[in-house]
This record gives sequence, structure tokens and C-alpha cells, in this order.
Amino acid sequence: MKNQDTLLEELIDSNAILNSLSDEEIGDDHLYSGIDTPMKPDAFKLSDDEKKESIAQLFAQIMDVMGLDLNDDSLRGTPKRVAKMFIDEIYSGLNPANKPKVALFENKYQYNQMLVEKDITFYSNCVHHFVPIMGKAHVAYISSGKVIGLSKLNRIVQYFAKRPQVQERLTNQIAKELQTVLETEDVAVIIDAKHLCVSSRGIKDDTSATVTSFYGGKFNTPEKIQELYNYINN
Ligand SMILES: [Zn+2]
Repeated sequence: MKNQDTLLEELIDSNAILNSLSDEEIGDDHLYSGIDTPMKPDAFKLSDDEKKESIAQLFAQIMDVMGLDLNDDSLRGTPKRVAKMFIDEIYSGLNPANKPKVALFENKYQYNQMLVEKDITFYSNCVHHFVPIMGKAHVAYISSGKVIGLSKLNRIVQYFAKRPQVQERLTNQIAKELQTVLETEDVAVIIDAKHLCVSSRGIKDDTSATVTSFYGGKFNTPEKIQELYNYINN
């Protein structure tokens, strides 16, 4: 185990390296800068409707600059459609107002082993290119005396996926939220995903996938990790 000071030093070092690189040098390397999605303090000054209006105008400008004829029937509605899709669907998880409300129940059955919700299909978009990330999330917890409805595990995954994401951040955001709502450290999250910015462009590798994991509390032992993998691969 590394002590806090070593971890902190490494973090400072990696940030120093990060800050010394230009955007071009960073290029396609999917760097991860911390657990929280970087948001401006005034992120919610505009209403959703105002945001949609503004995004539609700006997206029309992008299309116009690219030389597309926005008077054509096939393109006319696109800026508004994109704006609505951004705010109401694929980036709706940026707004904390959309976070799933979670009710906890007593663990009446006294079930004290791990509960695994596996193969949760999700779609997200990468923060570096704004193209899709898609994959499966597997989440698990050991009840501290409280349980939540299974569909809520799904909804928590979907909420954090609906942001421009880095897979490491998505993994940790889901884990931290589960730890908070379930009132336990004993949470695990595994994400296995394909990044279209890797397969459809750039390096154009269609077969690779990225796997990330978080093992908190009692999950952080080789035996528990093995048990979890047995359930997932079963
Ligand atoms: Zn990307």
C-alpha cells in the first residue's frame, strides 16, 4: 500500500506532466484529470430551453462553416434535434437535477453476500472527441443493512454515462455514488467498453476494448474479486 504522501506526490507529478503538454501532444491519449466532471461555477445559469436554443444556433454555425446547405430538407431540423438530444438525452447527466432519487429499504432477508447487477448496457460519449463509448457495466455491493431497488443500480449507471466521459471517471463516479447512497464502502464497479474514437477513427482498432474497475472495502481482496468475476463470467 502506498501512503497518502506518496500518492499525493505522484498526483502532483502527473499533473505537472499533464500541464506541460500541449493539446496536440496530448492528442488521442485519453487523459483522466480527476473524479469530478469539470464544470463551470455558473453551469446552470441558463435554463435547459435557453441552452437548447443557443446550442441549436451554434451547431447550425458549425454545419454552415462545413459548407452544408441548411435549407435542404434533410438538414434543416438538425441543429434543433442535436440541441434537444444533447440536453434531454445524451448529456442530461450533467445536470444534478436529473440524478436518480434513491430510496433505501431494510435488508429484511438478511442477505449478507455480494449482490451483483451485471451486463448493464450503457452508451456514453468520450470527453475528448464527443463520439460514442458503449459497453457493459457490472456493479456489486455488500449490504450494510440497507438495500436499494435493482433498477436504481441501472439508473445510477445511466445517469453518469450521460455526460461527456472518460471511462476511469465514469467508473469512479458510479462507485462513489453507490458508496454514498448505500452507506457502505463495500462496492465494486467494472466497466468493459468500446470507444468509437479508437475504432472508427484515429488508430482505427476495431477489436480492442477498455476495462476499468473499482474495488472498495471488502471487495478489495483477491478472493472477493475472483468471486465477483465468477458471477460476471457465469
Ligand atoms: Zn475519445
